Amino acid sequence: MDGLGDRPIPELGNLTPLEAAKTPNMDLLAKKGATGFTYVAGLGLTPGSDVGHLSLFGYDYHKYYSGRGPIEAVGLGVKLGEGDVAFRGNFATEKDGTIIDRRAGRLADSGPFAAALTGMKIEDISIEVKAGTAHRAAVVFRGPGLSPNIGPTDPHGPGTAHTSEPLDGTPEAIKTARILNAFHARASEILAALPENAERIKNNKLPANLLLVRGAGLYTHIPQFQDKYGMTCSCVAGGGLYKGVGSLLGMEVLEVAGATGKLDTDLNAKVRAVMAELDRGVEFVFMHAKGTDICSHDGDAQGKKAFIERVDEAIAPLLSVLDHVLVVVTGDHSTPCALKDHSGDAVPILFAGEGVRNDDVERFGERACVHGAFPSLLGLDIMKVVNIHLGRAPYMGA
Ligand code: ZN
Ligand code: ZN
Repeated sequence: MDGLGDRPIPELGNLTPLEAAKTPNMDLLAKKGATGFTYVAGLGLTPGSDVGHLSLFGYDYHKYYSGRGPIEAVGLGVKLGEGDVAFRGNFATEKDGTIIDRRAGRLADSGPFAAALTGMKIEDISIEVKAGTAHRAAVVFRGPGLSPNIGPTDPHGPGTAHTSEPLDGTPEAIKTARILNAFHARASEILAALPENAERIKNNKLPANLLLVRGAGLYTHIPQFQDKYGMTCSCVAGGGLYKGVGSLLGMEVLEVAGATGKLDTDLNAKVRAVMAELDRGVEFVFMHAKGTDICSHDGDAQGKKAFIERVDEAIAPLLSVLDHVLVVVTGDHSTPCALKDHSGDAVPILFAGEGVRNDDVERFGERACVHGAFPSLLGLDIMKVVNIHLGRAPYMGA
């Protein structure tokens, strides 16, 4: 559950949303299993969802994270190669040099706009633009001598589009910023002349006349989950970022009808997909639910509690397979409703299944799990605990 961890909230009687939620199934897992709490990206850091998830799967972000762009791009099905620089993009509306809507009037389909821009070549760099959901897109630069160390064109707020600046003095950063600025100018010209935009203006809709980018990252090959852990793996998620993490790690990313990555997601359909994957012999299944984090960013403690209760109900089928399946429940970071943002607070975690030595904790909650068998786990150690319980921890000595 994304952003699962929280802090005590007065309107919930000084309980956290997880503590206040009725979670009989997770409580049973906690009672049968072992619990604890994890500093996902290490003590003293506030993880973004990208770094949080890489850490949960045992990938050190120092080595394998260079920005959100590549993760978003592979999540949209772009094949990245060594040395590509990828960005997250969004179509926006500019008027007289000022951004008046960062979502171009909530563009329903960015497909035709991305199609008009993809295939461009600037100097020796070819540029791929791939449509994402609504106003979103991914932008990929492909060619020699690129660097992710440049500023965004997206001001990420009101104002004007930024001119990208190199963030260091290397020829690669200078070149990449120069190409991004040229791309920005040419893309704006092409978009302004696009019939789809004339049509939007005619219908009193805001034109998508700007493509803003941010989150530059350099793609480098990342060891695949299956090679690292010797387990086949699938990913059940709705949100693009989480599908992107799955793709990046070589998981089979399933398309589950009704999995939206939002509050209206069909959790039962996702759990059905998980069960089907386990049935067909997939050895590791990652299921992600975003609703907890969405409510947290809105400061909606009641909504977060209700979403946790829905997850609890949905995961009931997992209770019947504990004799041959290890179930791990946790989050990628805390997102306290009071902060409406991520924090460095620990996240509760539980492990349940055959052979897990149970501790005295009988409830799944932030403060209950402080008394569990796995205190202060680092995110990078979680897969090691999984390996212990699966009998896969490597033998050392004779
Ligand atoms: Zn997250
Ligand atoms: Zn978040």
